[in-house]
This record gives sequence, structure tokens and C-alpha cells, in this order.
Amino acid sequence: QNSLLSATGTTIFTVMSALAVQHGAINLGQGFPDYDGPEDVIEAAAAALKDGRNQYPPLTGVPELRQAVAAHNRRFYGLEVDPNAEVVVTSGATEAITACLMAVLNPGDECVLIEPLYDTYLPVVKMLGAVPKLVRLNPPDWALPRAELAAAFGPKTKAILFNTPMNPTGKVFTNAELAFIASLIEKHDCYAICDEVYEHLTFDGWKHIPLMTLPGMRERSLRIGSAGKTFSLTGWKVGYITCDRSLAPNVAKAHQNLTFTTPPNLQRGVAVGLMKDDAYFEGLSTRLQARRDRLAAGLAEIGFGVLETRGSYFITTDFRPLGFNGDDVAFCRTITEEAKVTAIPVTAFYASEEAPSHYARFAFCKGEAVLDEALDRLRAWV
Ligand code: PMP
Ligand code: GLN
Repeated sequence: QNSLLSATGTTIFTVMSALAVQHGAINLGQGFPDYDGPEDVIEAAAAALKDGRNQYPPLTGVPELRQAVAAHNRRFYGLEVDPNAEVVVTSGATEAITACLMAVLNPGDECVLIEPLYDTYLPVVKMLGAVPKLVRLNPPDWALPRAELAAAFGPKTKAILFNTPMNPTGKVFTNAELAFIASLIEKHDCYAICDEVYEHLTFDGWKHIPLMTLPGMRERSLRIGSAGKTFSLTGWKVGYITCDRSLAPNVAKAHQNLTFTTPPNLQRGVAVGLMKDDAYFEGLSTRLQARRDRLAAGLAEIGFGVLETRGSYFITTDFRPLGFNGDDVAFCRTITEEAKVTAIPVTAFYASEEAPSHYARFAFCKGEAVLDEALDRLRAWV
């Protein structure tokens, strides 16, 4: 082993996307839209590219994007944020997660994580020499096990990192659940790193609530957003962190040592995006909800057990009713090779051995014709 990373495998999203290409499968695995982001956002970035905005921007982000992030926080959540001292722009939420963990964790500190978890969380916590404390949510309802969560906090706890709306479960944390998490954070005097990349992708009237808006949490939360999800531009890799002015300098130093800056032309585009009117943000979730409904109905009709999805790009399905004899990794490989449709095994989001192993995650951020074709292929295969 030349480093701790030797124990980390290639991310499941890359593995399954490569397998999809190899077998000519429709890729409902890795979560990326097959449609483009808003034209005005793309035009703004293109104009900035041609307008000489091509050198290092300021370390914490271009002023207009920091201002747009602050205005977005005020508009949607009533949060007052100083754009000059409480916002750091990063190269995607992926960098933001690492930068926030670097900003608060010392070696030996404990960090509470909630399974199923996004695949970068655990390797980064371990790389920093911190100790992960895992709390497991279980299908089909993904309820927060309060006693276990409380037991995961202790004198060495420095932070909790969690994701709402949640990938892959589609769970949207309720106010009561967030209040419980907040009480533990106060009791143990620690921080929350909140991965909120799907903040605008909620359905059926479910509303995203940032932990940061709860009493006592303004100074203790590091809130992460992503242009990839909010503007359907996953390749842009522009993320933004909102946190208290006491935390931002350390976050900025982490960013300084990770990437230093983020492309200024893309930042310009994202600033235009965050200033779009409310109708844009409503339309984003309305259109996505229709895609969710289309895929969910089709999968249910084919015989999958379809779990409820309240937010995100993803539907989790139980494939046992199809009579498949094998685990989720085998299932996802088999449908890729035989049905030519790719999904992601949900065990990839668990570190613990007792992970539920008969669930597959399908992404619905795809055109209707693509979803229909995927359903036709699965129907012909079962
Ligand atoms: N967190 C979660 C929960 C995600 O699903 C993703 C992937 N889209 C990210 C973070 C990474 O976001 P970005 O592409 O902005 O780095
Ligand atoms: N967030 C995306 C997903 O969950 C994938 C991002 C990636 O490939 N790293 O599918």
C-alpha cells in the first residue's frame, strides 16, 4: 500500500458508466441529466470566456457569484449571509465536502456519517485521520434511528456530515429530524456539514429545509450547494459553501490547497443562474417530478418494488419481486449486460457489512424517450 487510498476502489459511478458503454446500455446509473442546462446560464459563461475572463479569479470566488449565493440564501431560506466573508466557491460540491471536512476535522476527531452515504465521504474522513461513526438508515422508509444517532455522538465528536435531499434514498429530512440532529450538535458542541446539492429537486410539495435555518445552527453549519444539480450542468463542477465567518477562513485555506480557484467564466454563468426568477426553480422540480413519475410507474408495472422518492435524481427499487437470484451488484451487472439498462447497486452507499443487498438505484434525470426505451428493455428482459 503506498497510501490510505490504496484501499479505496474506483467509484461505482465510473465503474457502472464504463460497463454501460461496453454493453451499449442505457445509463440510468450515474446521475447526470441527458438534457442541457438553461440557455442564459450557458450564454453568460460563453460570453465570459470570450470576454477575457480567463485568468485566476479571487480565491473565494468571483464577487458576483458570492453575492448571488448570498441573495439565494436570503430568497429561499431567509438566511442573511455576508458575501465577502461567509461564502466560498469551490470546484463542485465534491471539493466543497473535502474542504469543509478539512476545515473542521483534526486527526483523531470523530465524524458522524449517515448511511447510505455518498461515496466520497468515508475515504476523505479517513484520509484526514478522523474516525467515522456510521449510523445506518434502512429501507423502505429510511427513518432516522434516533437512539443510534444519539449514541454515535460522544466527547470526541467534531462534526456530522449528512445529505438532504438524500442520494440514493430520495429522503428529505423533516423539521423534526433536523431539530433532533441540531440538539445533538448543540449538546456535543460540534459542527454540521450539510450536503444540500439536491436542495431544489424536491417533489409532491416536500420542501428542503437547511439545518442552518434551525435555532443555534447558523454558526455551526457549513451548507453546500452545487450548480451541477441546480442548473443541470454536472460537468461544470461549480460548488458553493455558506458558513459562518468564523469558519470561512479555514474553508478558504482548504480550498487554496485543493484547487485554489474555480473557472471564472463558469462562475459568471452560475451567478446568472442563481439570480433566475422563482419560476425557473419551480419548473426544475416540476419537470423532474414528471420524469420520476414516468419511471416509477413503469418500474412498478414491470414488477419492481418502487420506494417513495421525495427528492434527488433517484428512485430506489427492490428487485426481489422479479425473482432475481443474486445480490444488487449481480443484478446491476446482469441488467446492464442482458437488458442493456444500467443501475447502481445500493450497497455501494454502505460501508457496513449488514447493508441491505436487494436494492438498485435508477436515475430519472433523462429524456422521456430514453426513460421509455429503458422501460421497454426491462419489460422485454423480465
Ligand atoms: N453530493 C451528492 C449527494 C451527490 O449526489 C453529488 C453528485 N452529484 C455530489 C455531492 C457532487 O456534486 P458535484 O458534481 O458538484 O461535485
Ligand atoms: N452524484 C452522481 C450520482 O450519485 C455521480 C457523481 C459521480 O459520478 N461522481 O450518480
